[in-house]
Amino acid sequence: MAESSFELKIITPDRVFFEGVVDMLEMNTTEGEIGILPGHIPMTVIIKPGVAKIYEVNGETKEAAIHAGFLEILPDKVTVLAEIAEWPGEIDISRAEAARARAEARLQEKDPDMDMARAEIALLRALTRINVIR
Ligand code: ATP
Repeated sequence: MAESSFELKIITPDRVFFEGVVDMLEMNTTEGEIGILPGHIPMTVIIKPGVAKIYEVNGETKEAAIHAGFLEILPDKVTVLAEIAEWPGEIDISRAEAARARAEARLQEKDPDMDMARAEIALLRALTRINVIR
């Protein structure tokens, strides 16, 4: 098979979020922002909240907010097992703005009992939702 594209499947606990043939996928992971092209060496990576960009073979590009899960990369197939994935139209912007304000306030309090990592990841989820709409 000519390696100019690969199969992409994005699954969440409640639906098949995306299924199709793509030229490239960009995602935020614990390894940083990665761009996956056809023929990639097999690997598994952990997702961080970010805007995923799906470059379909028909020339269309879709963007989605993907917040957590795993990415299994094979040369001709990529499977995203996402805990939470949202298309821009599904995002409630005022809820995301409120979550952002709440997370920022928590991070500024510097309360030693506060779980900083949890507040940071909540802020990242809110910023991802805001970014995917803009
Ligand atoms: P919040 O504090 O507003 O609940 P959160 O980041 O803690 O935000 P999550 O735990 O990431 O929320 O998500 C819980 C569920 O709520 C998921 O199904 C997610 O898709 C949905 N959700 C969260 N924020 C929004 C939003 N702004 N618009 C639409 N759906 C959202």
